Amino acid sequence: MVECSICHKHIDEKVALVNTDKDGNKRVICQECFKQEAGVDYETFAYRKENAKQISIAVIICLVMTIYAFVEKGPLYGALGLVLTVLIYFFSGKIK
Ligand SMILES: [Zn+2]
Repeated sequence: MVECSICHKHIDEKVALVNTDKDGNKRVICQECFKQEAGVDYETFAYRKENAKQISIAVIICLVMTIYAFVEKGPLYGALGLVLTVLIYFFSGKIK
């Protein structure tokens, strides 16, 4: 068991979250306090983080494909790939 540094409730290590406060100090907090601090619950936060990771992977893949298309098929396909990459990046920014 660990203690939440905000509400001082005793919580299980498995559900405890390590958070960094404004001064850069690491602290252990419970999920309820995380929700109050971050404005979202931990599941939403984790989901967004995972989503952001997948989007960056998708963008990187698109960029590699763009370079490949540019080299193999010429500037026109390269430009198309670039447009596609920008579109993915743009739309992914809207889903939040
Ligand atoms: Zn707490």
